[in-house]
Amino acid sequence: MRLLVTGGAGYVGSVVAAQLIEAGHEVTVLDDLSTGHEDAVPEGARFVRADIREADQALDGVEAVLHFAAKSLVGESVREPGRYWAGNLGGTLALLDAMRDKGVGRIVFSSTAATYGEPERSPIEESDPTRPTNPYGASKLAVDTALSAYAGLRGLGAVSLRYFNVAGAYGRYRERHAVETHLIPNVLKVATGERESVSVFGTDYPTADGTCVRDYIHVSDLAKAHLLALGAITPGEHEIYNLGSGTGFSVQEVISVCREVTGHEIPAVVGERRPGDPAVLVASSARIQRELGWKAERASLRDIVSDAWGALSGK
Ligand code: UDP
Repeated sequence: MRLLVTGGAGYVGSVVAAQLIEAGHEVTVLDDLSTGHEDAVPEGARFVRADIREADQALDGVEAVLHFAAKSLVGESVREPGRYWAGNLGGTLALLDAMRDKGVGRIVFSSTAATYGEPERSPIEESDPTRPTNPYGASKLAVDTALSAYAGLRGLGAVSLRYFNVAGAYGRYRERHAVETHLIPNVLKVATGERESVSVFGTDYPTADGTCVRDYIHVSDLAKAHLLALGAITPGEHEIYNLGSGTGFSVQEVISVCREVTGHEIPAVVGERRPGDPAVLVASSARIQRELGWKAERASLRDIVSDAWGALSGK
């Protein structure tokens, strides 16, 4: 298929773009490089440097869009909510209008576990309440709401994938944010010598060891779900699927696995809780397994950390 991948110079977008090209699709990457890297655009993709509001120039002949371009820092979204509403919701609405004008009727959307907020039960299912606790999650949920409306009104075919904690690397494609907030890359930066220690944000949560529990999914498995979603899009319908491994690991457990994989002692310093962090976030991915036949292949935390470490350290 001829596909447009917005945000294809970013972490998840570049991995999905690479897998789409490997599967024989014709890919154009649209990215304004505000947080992405041009050298992350996979070989074989056409690259257009532009904002998603200018996507019309890249939509001729396109059969479907995979939409990753977004702002995605929770803390920044609390400090500057307007940028999140304008970029994530306003930008996506402009993209959807451009798609309508160009007759492009299919989209796979990069949504997030942050749409659920503080969960009532674990693991979280797609039918659970969505009560985001920050503007990032709220802006992504607003897009999901718009996609459902446009599916009904305009016959758009859409699939939203709600990611839990994405980690690991796919070949040379890895996580490299200018401002790194995520746990695994920050822990590994201690092993490379870029940081002296990692902070553990709170040890008084109601979990077995007192640190927060998250559901880590390998970026390669996550990317594969996008290819399945693309094939399952139905005009006039909007489907939502969670994507996680179904298993939770605490911050302390993640640090332990990173110590084992890297052979580095990785000093950890206990710090304050990070505002807005739920104690436990674990996905039920039963629905995507059942309906699209998705299955994680590199599900163990050791595989995830090993691949992230391999891409970072060249080992
Ligand atoms: N975390 C931590 N130290 C760090 C980064 C994160 O203790 O340097 C904790 C964070 O409070 C959360 C978990 O690790 O409980 C995962 O955080 P991350 O930012 O990777 O993902 P999130 O779950 O917030 O999307």
